[in-house]
Amino acid sequence: MEEKIRIMIVDDSKTSRKLLRGILERGGYEVVCEAVDGEDAWGKYREIRPDLVTMDITMPKMDGVEALSMIRKEDPTARVVMISASGQREKMTMAIRRGASDFITKPFDEKKVLATVGAVLEE
Ligand SMILES: [Mg+2]
Repeated sequence: MEEKIRIMIVDDSKTSRKLLRGILERGGYEVVCEAVDGEDAWGKYREIRPDLVTMDITMPKMDGVEALSMIRKEDPTARVVMISASGQREKMTMAIRRGASDFITKPFDEKKVLATVGAVLEE
């Protein structure tokens, strides 16, 4: 059997994690783990080394932009797709500057999510 691409979902919202997991699994990906804030994401990234991370921006303890920076410092090849709500243009610009691969906006559009993830994995 072909090995699936491993994805880590980072989001403080349980509902968002569940929605995203459903979309990614229907798209044929394996969701290897979920993290609930930036600190959790940082620890789990180092341990699990997923092929791609979806990273919510607004989270307690450590936000998505900071977690992205930590991950990219440790692993410059890390693929991190930011998840943003509307009105976060400034944070998005900062994230792209810090090495984010692309971004997905909430509410999730299944086709767009899979197209974005697919394109980032092909880079
Ligand atoms: Mg959030």
